[in-house]
Amino acid sequence: MMSEIPERKARLYAISLSLMVGSMVMAVKFYAYWLTDSSALLSDALESIINVVASAFALWSILFSGRPPDHTHPYGHGKVEYFSAFVVSGSGFMKKVRAGLWLEVVHSRR
Ligand SMILES: [Zn+2]
Repeated sequence: MMSEIPERKARLYAISLSLMVGSMVMAVKFYAYWLTDSSALLSDALESIINVVASAFALWSILFSGRPPDHTHPYGHGKVEYFSAFVVSGSGFMKKVRAGLWLEVVHSRR
């Protein structure tokens, strides 16, 4: 049980870093779109929103999972991290679908 606390700190550090870097990358992509008016950059910037939302959700789930057991959750809240992993991997799947649709559009224009 004692080793759970540094592990939780490491998770919080990693996900906070991910959220910060993701937000900066998203800002740079929107700025690049603003400069170039490129639809590819806009698509990439919009995709970054998914990354930032997924990171924010993961951060929330790590914070929520640390709550002690209560009346409605007598075994604690740790299982929310499995749900979060499912949602985050689902967002990755949605990005692949988007990339596939984008390639379809590019090929249909040739
Ligand atoms: Zn609860």
